[in-house]
Amino acid sequence: MRTTSTTDIRCKQCSALLAKRDRDGLSIRRGDMQTTVTGGDFTVAVTCYRCRALNVVTSRPPQPPAAAAHAPPTAA
Ligand SMILES: [Zn+2]
Repeated sequence: MRTTSTTDIRCKQCSALLAKRDRDGLSIRRGDMQTTVTGGDFTVAVTCYRCRALNVVTSRPPQPPAAAAHAPPTAA
C-alpha cells in the first residue's frame, strides 16, 4: 500500500507551479532540468519563471510561533 501525498508548490504571486513536495523531498523541474532537494531541514528560494517573484520554500510547513512555544522540549 502506497500513500502518495504530493504538495504543489505554487508561486505566491501568480500561482505558477514551481515545484512539488512529497515525503522524499522537494522536486523542481523546468524542461529537461530537474532538481531534487532532500534532507530534514532545508530552505530553498525559487524565483518564479513567469513573474520573477521570489518564493521561499521550507522543508516543513510554517508553524505559528505560539504553537512552537507551547510544544514540549524534545532536546531534554
Ligand atoms: Zn509567479
